[in-house]
Amino acid sequence: NRMVAPEYSPDDEETENPLRPRHLADYIGQEKVKSNLAVFIEAALQRQETLDHVLLYGPPGLGKTTLAGIIANELGVNLRVTSGPAIERPGDLAAILTNLNQGDVLFIDEVHRLPRTVEEILYPAMEDYSIDIITGKGQMAASYHLPLPKFTLVGATTRAGQLSAPLRDRFGVVLRLEMYSPQELAQIVTRSAKILGIAIDADGALEIASRSRGTPRIANRMLKRVRDFAQVSSDDGVINYNTAKLGLDRMEVDELGLDANDRRLLTTMIRYYNGGPVGLETLAAAIGEEAVTLEDVYEPYLMQIGFLARTPRGRVATKAAYCHLGLKPPGEDVP
Ligand code: ATP
Repeated sequence: NRMVAPEYSPDDEETENPLRPRHLADYIGQEKVKSNLAVFIEAALQRQETLDHVLLYGPPGLGKTTLAGIIANELGVNLRVTSGPAIERPGDLAAILTNLNQGDVLFIDEVHRLPRTVEEILYPAMEDYSIDIITGKGQMAASYHLPLPKFTLVGATTRAGQLSAPLRDRFGVVLRLEMYSPQELAQIVTRSAKILGIAIDADGALEIASRSRGTPRIANRMLKRVRDFAQVSSDDGVINYNTAKLGLDRMEVDELGLDANDRRLLTTMIRYYNGGPVGLETLAAAIGEEAVTLEDVYEPYLMQIGFLARTPRGRVATKAAYCHLGLKPPGEDVP
């Protein structure tokens, strides 16, 4: 339930869909991805062909699901949404594929988590638009060759490295989503505020944007919470720099988007382990979390902003982390 977690949380449900842009022109940022996609979509439409399969990769909450919806919308076809872990057996995938209409977009989130047996029937489906289904066992076994409607698979993954090579090779278009700049996020916040009927000025939007860790999902979440502070503590209810700062300070999200958990992790490393190196398991035990939570939830952003380094001897807090916490880096306190 962390405000600054980039992963989807059920609390996002209510606003996530209304806030999704429907057209490429309304999708803010990711300029390279957008301009390439615009060409591929236009070319497919002109040739009256289906769009090549697209792989989108990048951290959670950057707009992969949104882009899949936009691709389908711009192509004028239906979008079918599913995810790797939801397709357990080859028959599940066969049922989805045989129900598609010509040209449809099939979006598979977390495509790296497809079971291997399912992946294997996806290969011919992507390549030749057909699948072979085997029914029965032993002497009663029979194999059917089923032609499929031509479709576009849009796969999304946060871990491109975990995708098997044969699957990766079958995507004609591979696009990497980048973290957003504070200016781009401010535009997203302003757009979301308009849709949700929230009054916000440019400085308020930029303050929320700068604390959102480069991630639209976090920015939208913060917007909704800060609205409560603006409503209760200002006369006009408008989110400006002061109300945004007040709200985010009260929720303990600092200027760089670190929350109390991030700061506790860094402080523990510095206070009890001289800033490291400290082993992952030791550190996890010290802050009362699982090692895997530390690795998957806390470390990615701290490493990205250069506050934490993974070394062969363990985790190390960097000089930048000391400075951000107002502490003297080791060596600098020696006269
Ligand atoms: P996950 O992989 O965790 O599901 P995701 O990458 O698919 O995340 P989305 O669900 O597409 O992310 O986006 C999260 C929210 O951020 C949505 O509400 C969406 O409206 C908003 N958003 C994402 N990218 C943009 C953008 N470029 N412009 C405007 N809003 C965006």
